[in-house]
Amino acid sequence: MNPKIWLSSPHMSGVEQTYIKEAFDTNWIAPLGPNVNGFESDLQSYLNEDRHVGALASGTSALHLSLIILGVSNGDEVICQSKTFSASANPIMYQGATPVFVDSEKDTWNMCPIQLEIAIKDRISKGKTPKAIIPVHLYGMPYKVDEIHKIAKSYNIPIVEDSAESLGSVYKGQNCGTFGDLSILSFNGNKIITTSGGGAIVTKTKEHKEQAIFLATQARDNAPHYQHSSIGYNYRMSNIVAGIGRGQMTILDSHVAKRRSNHELYRKTFRNIDKISFLLEPEGSFSNRWLSCILLDSKETREGLRLALEKENIESRPLWKPMHQQPIFKSAPSYLNGVSDDLFNRGLCLPSGSNLSDMELSRVTYAINTYFAL
Ligand SMILES: *Cc1c(COP(=O)(O)O)cnc(C)c1O
Repeated sequence: MNPKIWLSSPHMSGVEQTYIKEAFDTNWIAPLGPNVNGFESDLQSYLNEDRHVGALASGTSALHLSLIILGVSNGDEVICQSKTFSASANPIMYQGATPVFVDSEKDTWNMCPIQLEIAIKDRISKGKTPKAIIPVHLYGMPYKVDEIHKIAKSYNIPIVEDSAESLGSVYKGQNCGTFGDLSILSFNGNKIITTSGGGAIVTKTKEHKEQAIFLATQARDNAPHYQHSSIGYNYRMSNIVAGIGRGQMTILDSHVAKRRSNHELYRKTFRNIDKISFLLEPEGSFSNRWLSCILLDSKETREGLRLALEKENIESRPLWKPMHQQPIFKSAPSYLNGVSDDLFNRGLCLPSGSNLSDMELSRVTYAINTYFAL
């Protein structure tokens, strides 16, 4: 059997160990320290929009703290893109609030502005103005920022931008991860850069960052003893993990370039297979192409291809199953147009890692060409 080809696996630069060794040598083995500060400032410079970055234990914890900062609580409603990973929506439940799911449009596969406005109007008519909107740049493709933010602004609803998959993506010259009133990043094992596990909150004000760090470190009031007047969390990033992050920042741009070249190779190779289509970048959008996805002509073709790849020991995966189809969110209100259901049926993510060798890519393209030649 050929060795396994993964969808997206960690890819170290080698520099990570220097930062980790330094942490050991100086005994900064804690959820604070020079690597945490260094990683935050690396991210701030990279994002380049005068934002404040707080390094946290995960993207999920960053989303959770964002909702807390915006005052989301029991009985509130929060609008969330339906086509996403469950981590975008779970923190709404942590707060005892109700997720309201909004379907996608075909140009970016992300939150549909038309459905968003329908949803907001309908929720308001039912007596509840949504407390926040969570759009997602899925697979690195920027959502329709201008349209979505214009609607949010006109109803005065803050945006929590889920940029977990889109570090390195750009919309009209501005980096993804800087658009939200609050934004979040993830450095989980399969993301474009990884710290094994980790995330960050990106804020527009210093106060919001301070509030996030306060909550992430058990909400300790200013006193010589341990004094608490709000509920805290243990959500800070460790100094060891942040050392991996600093090493990863040195190769972020080359990871983006390699993932984009994987995508281009697939597009070029399959251009004559009319059962395969691709999501193109709309004018003004630059995707990090975190995962390369294809759309097949039918669910049957998609499933056949997935199984054929599995036989060759090549990992592939259907696109995110929309949240409105998930058993846990069965009773959540949803505003649907059929797009995310169709994408789920016909879409497939192909191996996309920045560490894929030419040989591995050849195995993937050969297996797909063979499947369609039969
Ligand atoms: C990975 C991911 C998250 C969660 O990030 P973690 O660091 O794994 O907690 C949230 N939203 C989306 C869209 C993601 O892909």
